[in-house]
Amino acid sequence: MRSQSQDLMPPRIIHILPEQIASQIAAGEVVERPASAVKELVENSLDAGAHSISVEIERGGTGLIVVADDGCGMSREDALLSLRRHATSKVRAVADLTAIRTFGFRGEALASIASVAELRMQTRRPDDDCGVELLVNGGEVEQTRDCALAPGTRIEVRSLFFNTPARLKFMKTLATEQAAAAEVLQRLALANRRAAFRFAADGRTIFELPRVASLLERLRHLYGLKLAERMLPFDYRSGAIRVHGLTSISQESLAAPRLIFTYVNNRPVRDRMLLRAIARAYETLLPRGRHPAVALFVELPPEEVDVNVHPMKTEVRFRRGGLIFELVFSTLRERLKDQTTDGPAADVIVPVRAQPAPPPPFLDTGGPGAAEPGRAHRAERSEAEQTTLRGADTSSEPATCVQNEGGGAVLDRPLRLVADKIANRESQVPLALGFARPNQASPDANAAQGGRPVPRYSSLRVVGQLFAGFIALEGDDGLILVDQHAAHERVTFERLRAELRAGGIRVQPMLAPIPLELNPARAAQTMAALPELRAMGFEVEPFGPAALLLQGAPAVFTPGDSLRLLSDMLESMGENGFRLHGEGAMEEWLKTLACHGSLRVGRVLDVREISSLLEQLDRTEFKTNCPHGRPVHVEFRRPQLERMFRR
Ligand code: ADP
Ligand code: MG
Repeated sequence: MRSQSQDLMPPRIIHILPEQIASQIAAGEVVERPASAVKELVENSLDAGAHSISVEIERGGTGLIVVADDGCGMSREDALLSLRRHATSKVRAVADLTAIRTFGFRGEALASIASVAELRMQTRRPDDDCGVELLVNGGEVEQTRDCALAPGTRIEVRSLFFNTPARLKFMKTLATEQAAAAEVLQRLALANRRAAFRFAADGRTIFELPRVASLLERLRHLYGLKLAERMLPFDYRSGAIRVHGLTSISQESLAAPRLIFTYVNNRPVRDRMLLRAIARAYETLLPRGRHPAVALFVELPPEEVDVNVHPMKTEVRFRRGGLIFELVFSTLRERLKDQTTDGPAADVIVPVRAQPAPPPPFLDTGGPGAAEPGRAHRAERSEAEQTTLRGADTSSEPATCVQNEGGGAVLDRPLRLVADKIANRESQVPLALGFARPNQASPDANAAQGGRPVPRYSSLRVVGQLFAGFIALEGDDGLILVDQHAAHERVTFERLRAELRAGGIRVQPMLAPIPLELNPARAAQTMAALPELRAMGFEVEPFGPAALLLQGAPAVFTPGDSLRLLSDMLESMGENGFRLHGEGAMEEWLKTLACHGSLRVGRVLDVREISSLLEQLDRTEFKTNCPHGRPVHVEFRRPQLERMFRR
């Protein structure tokens, strides 16, 4: 029996896959959906030096994808070769792999796409008399002939995945696939401004982007003036590494991170570390779950980064990831610290520093959240150091830290692909993506550049206080409302944080120690939490089994408030004491402390108190948002008001 079956066994069971099957397997990695085919084809056009690239799709790209460019084109021989796997003009030797400057280099894309679709390639080099056309079906070249064509390359991909039905099943709705393709193109367009782009779906132009000189202009064309006006430029260089781009002011945010674009050496990548560095930079500036809009470009020598870790080349590996994280984080953080000015180096607006010394810088005294709870140190009370407004009302209603959702969040509109009416082909097709009122009449790209989204509050005319909670200011071009609690909370928080980093929260000794009765049920926990309370600036000693003696309190607050503040903190303390651990824990407590100790809504302010608050605010870093991320001000622009009055 045994020998018989052995006789029937073929001599070998391993065999080399036919080229076509190998390509289809590779295609599964490179072309997982129509958008990935679009990405590969457009990257080829960019690599070919195209100045104008048109992308048309039908049925989300599953029916048809056409990418046409005016790039360098190919000879007949090269065109035939380009369809073979590992056929590339971009890499010749292993050494080249460490210094890749083109998008493509694996030589797989065209072969992969051709193996799972019907493909027609037309291409012509500028010096050739005519072009060549190849018809390819499932990877087999079926016809080659001359054709008439302007210099460049045009590739038509029909019936994608027709021979891989399993892959087709993974497709989402056609609308989703179309949006993904549009997004791929947007990502590439943001980084490649020397080329004009057109995107059409099912016969309708979705967007059209002219060649532009700046990232800001490209962003404005893609997402509208409203977004562009709210972006802050940044540019930082350290040795051979450069970090630059645009990042949104912290008054605005989105519910999803869909407007975060990251590039490494101009290649769109999704890198968790870069995303973390961005999120970290906006910590305490945006409410939890909210996201900024960012176009981040990291440029570094090719040997510092491996781009060949992912078939679609959307992931990279940094040789010194920690360093890149630190650079991105601190560049953005520096930029966001004072959003009044044009940039970290800008000296357009010099903050007026009156008598009180500014808080010491904390960024360079330790890493983010590096502060450890430690024993607070005593300090003599000085009027100038107080951030409190004298006579703060202790009886007003408790501070609210509830997120105010309505607050002018222009970024927070659904991002939809809206087909544009192309009335005037000469003019810029508007901003298809839901941020902007399309057709907003400001063709001047510099308008956005000149916009100063965050005012210097103390330079504005105080109109008055509204609802005992908001300060109304007359700005250059609008009405600005400042949330007094949010403003004071940020001022107080930054003072506390600076003190902590400088060695400990400053303590104001009480004139006479005050006893505080504890809830007996919570007394034990409270006693266990004494070290944390002391680190926060409360000088407390046990006073019998269920009472504390308060001998000193954080100096930034009004002394008369100390006892209430301590009980508020004990109230906020969870079941298990101040239970946050690790990095940033102390900052969380300080947020709570700042919240309890800051001006409440309901507190009527006189003009002197208002000016004092605004001056303090102007001297404060990250003044745009309260430490929980709520905006400190909202603005009603004058034209908006005038429209309301039909002016
Ligand atoms: P890769 O981009 O990794 O080299 P591809 O399969 O995407 O591999 O392309 C293979 C080759 O075909 C490229 O190296 C390039 O020489 C040529 N090619 C592809 N698309 C174009 C185009 N639009 N214009 C000119 N040459 C192209
Ligand atoms: Mg390629």
